[in-house]
Amino acid sequence: FFIVVEGGDGAGKSTQVEALAEWIRGKGHEVVVTREPGATAIGKRLRSILLDVSSTGISHRAEALLYAADRAEHIDTVVRPALERGAIVISDRYIDSSVAYQGAGRDLSPTEIARISRWATNGLVPHLTVLLDVSPETARERFTEAPDRLESEPVEFHERVRKGFLTLAAADPSRYLVVDAGQEPDAVTRIVRHRLDQLLP
Ligand code: C5P
Repeated sequence: FFIVVEGGDGAGKSTQVEALAEWIRGKGHEVVVTREPGATAIGKRLRSILLDVSSTGISHRAEALLYAADRAEHIDTVVRPALERGAIVISDRYIDSSVAYQGAGRDLSPTEIARISRWATNGLVPHLTVLLDVSPETARERFTEAPDRLESEPVEFHERVRKGFLTLAAADPSRYLVVDAGQEPDAVTRIVRHRLDQLLP
């Protein structure tokens, strides 16, 4: 069973991923928590290129392909093997992040970005995508460390990213749960648990 948690920077994804993993483990399942970019050895090297503030000169297509390369390695070596042995996988970000950031955020076609990712993952679709939706202003107040390259983008960029995520969710409501992530983290977790209670094996 494959769960993805998506959302803009500062939406609280990592907090929710940890809370959900603990809850699902408590039900006796093996849970694999993972993330993009940077879950594998190659992914860590790609992540450092992608997030380095000095990589401002990277072309948007090259950037999109590096994210896709990270994803291909991640799915082949971490996610599919875990799913095949029956684990529940929770990934912090997946294809939607690319459609939202490299597609809606940059000047690239969201359809083409989705197509590259489908190829990179051999068509692996999550059972549920939880979209933590929050305004860029609220999100920004939550940053505790120095912003990375993407976090330093102007608020308009993050507004386009947010809309990109919401468009994806609206197109396939049965596979998405959109949660207002401006709420207290515990309230968000309760909403997600409620949905998963109906879905988990
Ligand atoms: O979620 P996390 O903080 O690990 O993401 C790292 C950075 O990479 C974030 O600033 C996010 O905006 C960016 N990112 C991106 N495109 C993706 C995935 C992440 O621009 N496909």
